Order: sequence, then structure tokens, then C-alpha cells
Amino acid sequence: MVIPANEAFQRAVTRGTRTSTGAPGPRYWQQWTDYRLEAELNPISKRLMGQGTLTYFNRSPDTLREVYLHLLHNLFAPGARHNTDVPWSVEGVELSRVAAQGQELKPTEEEGVGYEVDGTVMRIRLPRALAPGGSATLDFRWMLRVPPDGAPRGGQDGETFFINYWYPQMAVYDDLNGWQIDQYLGNAEFYMGYGNYDVALTLPEGWLVTSTGSLKNPTEVLSAQTRARLDSAGHATGIVRVVTEADRTAGTSTARGTGGKLVWRFRADTVRDVSWATSSRYLWDATNAAVGDANGDGRADTAAINSFYRPELRASHWNESARYSRHSVEFFSRYLMPYPYAHMTAVDGPSSCGGMEYPMMTCIGGQWDTLGLYEVTTHEIGHMWFPMLVGSDEKRFAWMDEGLTQFNQSQAIADFFKGVDDEEINRRNYLGFAESGGEVELMRHGDRYPTYGSYGVAAYYKPATVLVALRGVLGEETYNKAFKEYGRRWLYKHPSPSDLFNTFEDVSGRDLDWFWRTWFYETWRLDQGIDTVSTAGDSLDIVVHNEGRAVMPVRLVVSRTDGRADSLTVPANAWFGGERRRTVRVAALPAVKSIEIDPERDFPDVDRSNQVWPR
Ligand SMILES: [Zn+2]
Repeated sequence: MVIPANEAFQRAVTRGTRTSTGAPGPRYWQQWTDYRLEAELNPISKRLMGQGTLTYFNRSPDTLREVYLHLLHNLFAPGARHNTDVPWSVEGVELSRVAAQGQELKPTEEEGVGYEVDGTVMRIRLPRALAPGGSATLDFRWMLRVPPDGAPRGGQDGETFFINYWYPQMAVYDDLNGWQIDQYLGNAEFYMGYGNYDVALTLPEGWLVTSTGSLKNPTEVLSAQTRARLDSAGHATGIVRVVTEADRTAGTSTARGTGGKLVWRFRADTVRDVSWATSSRYLWDATNAAVGDANGDGRADTAAINSFYRPELRASHWNESARYSRHSVEFFSRYLMPYPYAHMTAVDGPSSCGGMEYPMMTCIGGQWDTLGLYEVTTHEIGHMWFPMLVGSDEKRFAWMDEGLTQFNQSQAIADFFKGVDDEEINRRNYLGFAESGGEVELMRHGDRYPTYGSYGVAAYYKPATVLVALRGVLGEETYNKAFKEYGRRWLYKHPSPSDLFNTFEDVSGRDLDWFWRTWFYETWRLDQGIDTVSTAGDSLDIVVHNEGRAVMPVRLVVSRTDGRADSLTVPANAWFGGERRRTVRVAALPAVKSIEIDPERDFPDVDRSNQVWPR
């Protein structure tokens, strides 16, 4: 059984940028951008004024005559195209200056030097061609209005501001498909390149600011009291209340500014985006997480853990948020790989944030019980590994970050809330939808699902369920080894589905095309069962069937009256020719008490009632 040929991937293997083992090829390359960004936010007008210089490094073997950027905020502009609910519009990104390679550019629809904005995508035709190994500077000055609550993934509710997609961001140019310049329509997420960021944010004094990256000027923006409490949080065993209700004034939480303003400076290395949040009403809790040896110097490292929330959010257990975050960061650092960034910060934001992930940051809105807040927190923190550290294309393959994260979330929940079987919840959600008949395959662009339900199943529940099945097929040890190896190989890189598939095959030493084909390229369902059990002389003939089109091994456990239980497997290739039935012969004695298919419930079978004998 084969999976459909992927011409772009085959071409990359031929060129040596990818390999058939799943590791990056010897000639793998990816682009890089250094960002220097400044912004001032006026919380009353909700206007953000920005300016920035981007230095784009062309590490590809191609000469680029034009470059593309995302102006993601234009999702909210009047007349914007979208496929999610955007209940109003605000001003889009208003560019007052665009320059490339030192030359001022004008908007133009003609060919020749200039720039063009189409929805959320900006094209710049460069004054001079950008050769391989060269770099180009791009300068921008812009203004935008932060969208009100209801904006997917961020915005402001008048008290809290979660600032995302706020600057011109380089589009990804990669070795597989060149420029990824699909419009941001609201549903499908992002594909972002890596870079370093220097960010300066100007806010009124008394407004706490938290951002992707490390704060570079704490003595200028934080009070001595806040700094002292923050220091103690760095080695505290519990949660330190860094800013309490009584502290929330300029001079007590923040430093006093000049002219009533403070400039907060952040630096972030090797991240795919920067977002930030601010409020004058935030409380600030902090602690630390043990992440293992993140920088490879042989010593254990820690990451700072922060939670920013309004006092009334205690009703949604936000005073536990730092504890939840610490557990999540520590758990994933063990389960996947050490968390390498300086901090992980959870922010109470506008309700339409839902839960949304950004490097080192998550914005969480709405009301929660303890399990719900833990779940959304650990899910978003799980995203630090996929797609923040392992930078897949979320737009084309939502399952590569959402599915892996949904699976990882289940592991963290099982560790924290003993007895909660989140894998079973995912499986039920997938099977229920598959039964309803609305399912479409996983290998589909995130903006091309017929319904939100079909997207949700294909992006979250089914891939999470399928990974449990893969763990069942490979065994936990091999599965974990392959999963970690995939992360290690593609840290700060851009893996495609083939790289993940090939890594699992490489590490396990098995051809798993039948697995990928069944679960990622098709909507075939699994329905294994025990047909008949009959005695034939000294033997017992067990006839198992495979009624669905899904191809999976049949794992039988035969339990006997003497207490013995034997495990037998009908390999997946028994079904490759389209057979529906297979006889398994075992000894009749000692007497067989019961037979069960997949008693561990690893596989998502649509009908479990026929998997046990006697029925
Ligand atoms: Zn997610």
C-alpha cells in the first residue's frame, strides 16, 4: 500500500534539502529575518503606531526579485475576506512609509519597483535583486486600530490588550513550495519563519507589559518592589504574588515614567513571532519551571513562569494558572524536549482569545472550571513545541501542530489530573463525527474544510486519536523515541508531513505507508471484529473480520481458564489485498474463557461490541 506521490518533496530529496529518512538534508536551508520594531499603544484610542526595520537574509539558492510579507491585521479591515466570524471591521494596517534597500517605495499595481497590498499579503518588488547569501533591509511605518473583543485570537476589551499580528512579517519562502502567501482568512493558522526580534513598546506608566522575549530594561520599567519579588520567584518553590491589587499603580507595580510613559524593551532570539499584552488592571503571579538541560551545558535550567490576570478571574481559577503552567512546561520538557525559551506567560485576555498560542505567550479568554483552565493552559503551552519550536506549516497541515498538541495535552492531563482520560474524549469526538458521515481527510489545507466540525475533527481529534493508535502499533518506547527524534531533527526548522512520516519509519525500522494512507489521506473507518469461534480437533479457529476499509493489525488477547492470556497479532498486510476475513488458529486447551480484540483500546474502532467473545 502506498501513499500518494508528493512531487515537491521528491524534488527536495533530489536536491538534497530533504531526505527519505526524515532528517533534514545536507543542503537544507531556510530564510532568516532580524526585526527591530517599535510601537506605541494609546489604550484610549486603541491606536497602535509602529515603525520597524527588517533585515531579511536570503539563505536560499534562488535570486529573489520580489519578497512577500503578511499584514495579518488586515483580516479586520473593511471589506476583508474571511471564513470565520469577524463581527465588525476596524482600520487595517495603514502604511505611511515603505522602503526597501534604502529606497522609498510607492504602492503600484504595475510591474517595476514598488509594493502592492492584497488583503493580508504584501508584495514588494525590490529595487535590486536579492542574490543567494545576500540580505535586504525593509523599513516600515504604520498605524492600526486594535480590534475589539470578538476578534479571533486577540484584541482588546477596553481593559486588557492582547496585541498580535501587529507588524509587517516576512512570509515563508521554503525549499518545498517557494513563497507561502495564502491569505489569512481567519480559520487556517500560520506558517512563520524564524528570526531575532528587538522590540520597544511605549505604554502609559502603570500599565504592565508582557511580551515574547526577555525584558531588557527592568530597572527602567519595573518598581524596585516588583523586581525584588520577581527575583524571588526565580527560585521560589511556590507561587509569588508579584503584583497584587494594592500594587497596581505607577511607582508601585511599574516604575514612574517620563511624561507619563514607559518604554519596555524586549529581545527574543529564534522565534517565529512576537506578541505582547498590557493592562493597568493585571495582577502578576510568577514562579519557575525546571526544564532540564535546555542549552546543552550539562546543567539543569529553569524557565520563568508568569500569569497576568484581572482579580475577578480568580473565579475562573487564574490564581492557579502559574501552577498549571509550571506543571505543563515541566511535563513537556521531560516528555518532548527541554523548553529553551526564557519564560512562559499566560495572559487573561479578551474572551475571543479562546486559547491562542504565541512564542512564550498564551492568551486565554472566558470562564473556566479547574479542569477547563488546566486543559486550555496545557494545550496552548503544548504549542510551544509544535509549532513554535518545530515550525510546521499550520495553514496547509493543521494536524501537524493541533493534532500533535491535542495528543500531548492528553498526556499532560493524565499526569496532572490522575484518572482523566482525555485520549478517550478525543476518540469519542472523532468516532462520533466519523459516524455522522461529515468527515474529510487530514491532508487538506486548513481553509478548505466544508464545515468547522470537519476542520475540528481533522485538525484536533482524529490526529490525536491516530497518534494513540500509532503508539499502540509501535509500542510506547519506540513511539516516544520516534516522536522525540522528530522534534530534535526539526527544532527551529520547517518539517512537512513526509518528514514526520519518514522519521517514524526510520526510527521504528518499519514501513508504515499503510498507516499514513489509512489515517491521513483517507477517511476509511476501522471495524474489526470476531466473527466465529469454533473447535477443529485440538484447535480453536477464531475468524476475525475487517469490515471497514481502514488497514490495521488485529491484536487479539486469548484468555484461558488456567489464567494464562496470549497475545496474537494479525499483521496489517493481511488486509492489503482487500480480504475481509482471516482465521487465527490456537490450541483448544486449556479451555478458552474469552477473546478480545484490542483490549487496551488503542485503536479507534467504530463498533466495539463485536470485539469480544463470547458476546
Ligand atoms: Zn491548538
